[in-house]
Amino acid sequence: MSSPTPTPVDACPRCGAVGPVRLYEGEVCAACKSAAAWESHSATPLVITRADVDDAIAKRSGIEARSRLMRALRWAEGMLSLGLVVACVVAFALSWFLREVPLRKTVGAAETAGETFGLEEAA
Ligand SMILES: [Zn+2]
Repeated sequence: MSSPTPTPVDACPRCGAVGPVRLYEGEVCAACKSAAAWESHSATPLVITRADVDDAIAKRSGIEARSRLMRALRWAEGMLSLGLVVACVVAFALSWFLREVPLRKTVGAAETAGETFGLEEAA
């Protein structure tokens, strides 16, 4: 009686490491697949040193500081817009309490055409 699927193995045939994932016969572990991919792309395998990690952390902290500034600017922009909306609503509400001053309806009879148009009287 043979099963149609290959029997899984525990150890990687290339490096011999026993990982948490069961591998099929002839299949290599993820680390070996990654190393093979890097070796096929460039002659040297990928090596991550402590200095590389420190550089990445330093770069990331700079990016984080910049993104914090951008977040603060975006927040300030929204708050400014909201403040302007509130100020407009308050100004509109206050305009209802202004005292109404009626405009002058007619030019009075005492006034002459000269006063109206700024001409001086001859006599
Ligand atoms: Zn392996």
